[in-house]
Amino acid sequence: MERSDVEAAALDTLDHKFGDANFRAGQLEAIIPLLEQDRDGADVLSVIATASGKRRKALSVMLVPLKGLGRQHADMMTKAGVPALALSSSSTTAEWARCKMMIIEKALCALFISPEVLCHNPGFVKLLNEHNIAILCFDEAHLYNDWYLWRPTMSMAASLVSAQRRLGLTATMRRRDQQLVVRRTGMSAPIVQRGRFLRSNLLLQVIKRPAALTFGRASLADRLSAATEAKWRIARTLRMAIKARSLQGNTIVYVPSRAQAETVCKQLVQAAKDQKLVAVGAALKFRPYHAGRTDRSEVEQLFLSQRGVVVVATIAFGLGVDCAHVRVIIHFSGARSLAEYAQQVGRGGRDGEDAYCLCFYNPSDSQGIRRSIESAVLTTSTTTALMRKVAERTTERGPTSFLHWADFHRAGIDDDNTDAVLAALCRTGLALAGKRQPARISAMKGSKWTIQPLPALSRFALALWQDRFQAAFASGKLNVAVRCDVRDVCTVPPFLEMGAGGPTVVHDALGDLAAAKLVDIDYSDDYPLVQPLAVLDRQDARAAGRLLSKSMKSAAAQQLAVLDEALDFMEADGCLQRRLCDVFDAPDDLDAAVESCRCGMCEPATIGAGFA
Ligand SMILES: [Zn+2]
Repeated sequence: MERSDVEAAALDTLDHKFGDANFRAGQLEAIIPLLEQDRDGADVLSVIATASGKRRKALSVMLVPLKGLGRQHADMMTKAGVPALALSSSSTTAEWARCKMMIIEKALCALFISPEVLCHNPGFVKLLNEHNIAILCFDEAHLYNDWYLWRPTMSMAASLVSAQRRLGLTATMRRRDQQLVVRRTGMSAPIVQRGRFLRSNLLLQVIKRPAALTFGRASLADRLSAATEAKWRIARTLRMAIKARSLQGNTIVYVPSRAQAETVCKQLVQAAKDQKLVAVGAALKFRPYHAGRTDRSEVEQLFLSQRGVVVVATIAFGLGVDCAHVRVIIHFSGARSLAEYAQQVGRGGRDGEDAYCLCFYNPSDSQGIRRSIESAVLTTSTTTALMRKVAERTTERGPTSFLHWADFHRAGIDDDNTDAVLAALCRTGLALAGKRQPARISAMKGSKWTIQPLPALSRFALALWQDRFQAAFASGKLNVAVRCDVRDVCTVPPFLEMGAGGPTVVHDALGDLAAAKLVDIDYSDDYPLVQPLAVLDRQDARAAGRLLSKSMKSAAAQQLAVLDEALDFMEADGCLQRRLCDVFDAPDDLDAAVESCRCGMCEPATIGAGFA
């Protein structure tokens, strides 16, 4: 096909399927090389602003980092008449069967799937690879770098699927991260497109606030000023939220921790009450949002459908919540990384109207994180001790390989450091992170606690049921909280007695119990389950320990550099838009765009004066 034919065909499809007459800026340029595959088509890495609408007809498999996203995309495409499906860890057997059938019958246009689901279904990967995937697409491609340290499954999944073309899509990516993203998504010399990064309707402002004080050591005057400052931030946030509401819009307040999401939300509600806002009917709706809450999808719905909503959230909020009318974005205690900051302010003003982005920061905000990063690095002797403990137990018990909570203790590793070790195990390829963890297990309504020796139950599931759950249900505690992360899973008695498998065996057994309608499981999105891959012997332990420690050191260095960069950005002088564009290597049209910049540096009165 001539290029113009390709263009015409693409426009025709857009018009027929999605009712749009034209592609937005950057889209057509990303599609053309993919369609020209008969000739010298190529991989494409497309960095275009989110508001340019990167969700369009995908021709094949799209790896989506979050479950909700895949379903949203698939629904949208199905509505447009394009056969699309989404598979996730909670898909039913029927959904899997339907998907496989459609692939075999070549009736499926687009499949949205999470990296973990791919990694844990080798049979399905084989099926995909037999059916000649046209395009493997990476949504939020920057995450293949940003999340690499703790979610290496993403690039593992990328390497499993072979496709004629690869397409990476993202709104924010630094030029220096580009090569890493290319490598971790398995692209080969892609055509890289960079659209306009700058969005001049985002009115950025950064305000340095007084240091947070440690109460024990602070003088009375300091304590007073800290308390005043905290009140001031709340009052200021509330004023901004009222402004957002008056503009028929919503507000996102980003905070660094779950606890803070809860407390800041409460403080805002109280401050609104004090100002009698609720009484006058100008009610703002305040909601906390973090991975530990079960009402997340309700909050998302509220946010999308109403005006005057204020969500006080951790980083968990945003991906996949495509809301046009976000008028105010507040970073309540700084930002941990510029990538996060750019993504988060990018959620403002998607309708093209102004959005106010206010960041309160103090260098001390990140001190706690810094300390925890530094203390998470373990010496080679500690990591070797850990691997030896694993190896010892493994050889005692025969050729099984699993992580045991006691191994961490016996090697002298703190509870606080376990997550860092687990992530390092995954990065170094000693373990595979995958399935999501069951966070809460409860009895199904109407299910009797009597043993049900159903054929669907594995021997192990039956053992779990008898040993762990039955007694709890019998004693009337129908909501049994079993936090099944690696440590707890491995201390479930039947697991040790049976001496086989690992966390994923427990996971599968719980799945059996759920399928038999005995228990209901809420999954946590926080940390994936970890499954050790290799059986270690004593010789391996030393080498594995060295590898682990080295990986932890380099991860810590990378994490500290990210914190430093964010702090430098907030401390430095000069136009905020320009500096952000510098960091993300926006194109050359910057000068013209920045000429009329209304950021807090160029026009301090835009959002209001700083802390006085
Ligand atoms: Zn500026």
